[in-house]
Amino acid sequence: MTTDHGHPAVRLHIAGEWCQGGTGRTAPIVNPATEEVIGAVPLATSADLDRALEAAARGFETWRATPVARRTAILHTAADLLTERADEVGRIMTLEQGKPLAEAAGEARRVADTLRWHADDARRAYGRIIPSAPGTLLTVRREPIGPVAAFVPWNFPAGGPMRKISSALAAGCSIVIKASEETPATAAALVECFVEAGLPAGVLNLVFGEPAEVSDRLIASPVVRLVAFTGSVPVGRLLAAKAGEAMKPSLMELGGHAPVIVCADADPVKAARRAAHAKFVNAGQVCTSPSRFLVHASLLEEFTAEFTRAAEAVVVGDGLEPGTTMGPLANERRLKALERLTADAVARGARIRTGGERLDRPGYFFAPTVLTDVPRDAELMNEEPFGPIAPIVPFTDLDEALAVANGLPYGLAAYGFTDSAATAERLSAGLEAGILSINHCGGSVHEAPSGGVKDSGYGREGGPEALDAYLVTKRVSHLLA
Ligand code: NAD
Repeated sequence: MTTDHGHPAVRLHIAGEWCQGGTGRTAPIVNPATEEVIGAVPLATSADLDRALEAAARGFETWRATPVARRTAILHTAADLLTERADEVGRIMTLEQGKPLAEAAGEARRVADTLRWHADDARRAYGRIIPSAPGTLLTVRREPIGPVAAFVPWNFPAGGPMRKISSALAAGCSIVIKASEETPATAAALVECFVEAGLPAGVLNLVFGEPAEVSDRLIASPVVRLVAFTGSVPVGRLLAAKAGEAMKPSLMELGGHAPVIVCADADPVKAARRAAHAKFVNAGQVCTSPSRFLVHASLLEEFTAEFTRAAEAVVVGDGLEPGTTMGPLANERRLKALERLTADAVARGARIRTGGERLDRPGYFFAPTVLTDVPRDAELMNEEPFGPIAPIVPFTDLDEALAVANGLPYGLAAYGFTDSAATAERLSAGLEAGILSINHCGGSVHEAPSGGVKDSGYGREGGPEALDAYLVTKRVSHLLA
């Protein structure tokens, strides 16, 4: 069923059934390109959450006992269904999150592949046999940790949920996932693929609600064995503390404020083009988005000129319109935050090279923005901007640039541009980040781990490491005689 705006009706998925939720309370879903309400998301009650928890407890028993080859086959079928539906899922995503259609459909295709990758990796979750005394069999097994409570945000409406769902299900866990109330239909479309692929009831439960009510209830429940969160540092800190109180491990994929160091021997034009492309993807609403540009003083003008040209070439518009390369911000909170960060920087002496304000039209559109002469104490240099805004500042000494780059509590992504292998190694060793890219600003890949250090969180998603949080290690020693 779809609404008048072509947006599907959204429901909760609990114990294998789509349902409305106990009290009939809902929250509006807004198209950020038009500010129109395009649907309503049901909010779970405590009783709904308890049903989801009971279902996850039962679902875990069923799923862990399902042979791994069968589990993998179901996950592959779900991935194939998602691939077939990628264009439609992309359209839903654009309606509720704003990103351009090609980017949205690309995300749906990519996450189908994430699922395939984790499904296959589950078949290699080997234990080991350890040499021991004669007559003793000493083994190490890896077992699913149990039901998972997961919380994911709105910036990657398919990527966020799928990273958690694919790892949990591949490991043999069940999951209750609270996807974002702002992008719920994309999450529901993913869940529908699993349902149609034959996933047993209760293994995957999707809820929406008042975020704090949902996380309080799920994290405190004895059913839940792992808390997995993607989102901001303050909320991550809160949920990690709750998990700690309940003596549960957690996986925290939090924010960043990624430095880009452009060294004196780099090609400033190439560096500016690559960095600008990454900056404006998803309107800068990416946890690994390059967001502080530290450029050697000798390259500053050339880099800034090219970066500004690239910013001005971005086609801002409704993601459903062909030719759009950057959509609106996903919600009004981001718009207000960017206006505040820009005003603060300008008040402290920054110069706007391009952009700097919201577009004069309905929708949460903010112009691609380049600022120079931004002092280090500007909020923009210290707070994750999560938007299409680039402060460019000069440096003269690489140690000084490394000190600025490492000077914040964040440690998610970092980028360096240099022609020298020795300098690349200095950056690789010296930058405090979980993800480092040299001479490019490419995105994450399924095959390799992503995650932060310092306040950006702990645990890894992607790569074989992704299953670590979802598996426990059990030592079994068996005296045979
Ligand atoms: P926010 O920090 O309040 O929310 C972030 C996410 O956490 C949302 O999906 C929200 O529903 C959820 N959340 C909030 N409180 C929660 C709670 N008590 N229990 C469970 N979930 C809860 O604010 P926001 O306006 O949505 O985003 C603001 C900032 O968050 C951004 O500026 C960015 O720094 C960060 N963020 C990071 C990521 C990421 O990928 N790491 C994604 C989205 C937002």
